Amino acid sequence: MSQTYKNMVQKKHILHSGIFNQTLRDWQSLKSEITPRNLMYPVFIIEQDHEVQEIASMTGIARYGLYKLRQHLMPLVKQGLTSILVFGVIETLAKDDNATNADSPNNPVIRALPYLREWFPELVIACDVCLCPYSSHGHCGILTDKGLDNAESIKRIAEIALAYAKVGAHIVAPSDMMDGRIGAIKRLLNEHDLRNTVSVLSYTCKFASNFYGPFRDAAKSKPSFGDRKCYQLPPGSQGIALRAAQRDVEEGADFLMVKPIMAYIDILKQVKDKYPEYPMFVYQVSGEYSMIFNAAQSGIFNLKDGLMEILGSYRRAGADVIITYYTPLILDWIRLKHKL
Ligand SMILES: [Zn+2]
Repeated sequence: MSQTYKNMVQKKHILHSGIFNQTLRDWQSLKSEITPRNLMYPVFIIEQDHEVQEIASMTGIARYGLYKLRQHLMPLVKQGLTSILVFGVIETLAKDDNATNADSPNNPVIRALPYLREWFPELVIACDVCLCPYSSHGHCGILTDKGLDNAESIKRIAEIALAYAKVGAHIVAPSDMMDGRIGAIKRLLNEHDLRNTVSVLSYTCKFASNFYGPFRDAAKSKPSFGDRKCYQLPPGSQGIALRAAQRDVEEGADFLMVKPIMAYIDILKQVKDKYPEYPMFVYQVSGEYSMIFNAAQSGIFNLKDGLMEILGSYRRAGADVIITYYTPLILDWIRLKHKL
């Protein structure tokens, strides 16, 4: 070896020796690895048991009736799907001020859960808990002349969570962002001896984002007036997001979530750094799904390569579980990778 080269080796940082083959490159990337355990799949359940409704604003995503959902999930569970996040969507059932049909016997989630538990005994089922898909005004709480009534709202939210827990939800996930709802749910679960068998996944840092558009179409939950800025976090905020995490931790949440994620990855990192003992969930929302899909469609990047690069950044920043509509595709990619 020439003296000049020796000097260069001594003086410079040599990085290529750590990445010269695929196994070495994989070792450098373990923190961004994605396995089926890191994925939760959001699904919409409708009243019509034998129907599938394509969602125009989200290419490739549909709402499913109970039996169609069974067909849809069967191959995914075989491919390693470990958990789903369930949303109910109603069309013929009435919407009222009290969101009566959020937990009535006719609610599609209430009806579906016992079947899903029986058909897929290993699958963890989380249920979104909110008033907005079932309330006549489309807001996430109980309204009075003066605005949202917090005490009445969290009482109702806890009742709905309890109803989902009783029919088989492993996880209840309040998405409303009302103060005090985690504590109210935990108290009610405790009173009904469900404290050790049902966990609470809190939509802790949920921002009043521009990326929810297609979801409101999918879940038919658009507010009939006003917006949700009084209870969802301001997009530019940071301190109040950390206070929300502290609030939910102190009220007893089992798991925390940041939603959306692409524009809030700093919040994820800060919450994870502050509460490393809590598994962190991130929700890649409908607008993010469609944005990435459209970018790939217009040839900006290959869908798989671009998406995995983006999701890897969420894992590196501290996400343990990624809630994504891309779950079926990713499970397929993982399966193919292991087959090669
Ligand atoms: Zn809501």
